[in-house]
Amino acid sequence: MPIDAKRPYEEGNIFARVLRGELPNKTVLETEHSLAFHDISPLAPIHVLVIPKGPYVSWDDFAAKASDAEIVDFVRAVGEVARMTGANAQGYRLLSNVGKRSGQEVPHLHVHVFGGAPLGPMLAR
Ligand code: AMP
Repeated sequence: MPIDAKRPYEEGNIFARVLRGELPNKTVLETEHSLAFHDISPLAPIHVLVIPKGPYVSWDDFAAKASDAEIVDFVRAVGEVARMTGANAQGYRLLSNVGKRSGQEVPHLHVHVFGGAPLGPMLAR
């Protein structure tokens, strides 16, 4: 069920539980401020999620509240994942759903890194 991204951060969300080690994950990359892991239900041959370790609901929440160090770390982590997975070889797509209209299901900022195959049109018409 898509969430309202204007809600305060919820400590019980799935990715907060991953970060606390309460749920397993298939880690691709861990940095000081970010974690990247394989999506549990991949939609492309390469489908990795990159999340900040801090409690941010959305991109705009993160951009407003995160420290410069967290933002630099996160942006670099996304690029590193694109390189590490080989997604950058033939092209990839970054996606971050925010709020109900985009279908965001987990209320912790995440960037999807898709690659490994042609990805089709940007949006269904
Ligand atoms: P979104 O719809 O943008 O909020 O995407 C949430 C993503 O999280 C979906 O692609 C799910 O397949 C993925 N997901 C949910 N639970 C887990 C989990 N425990 N480990 C990895 N990915 C997950």
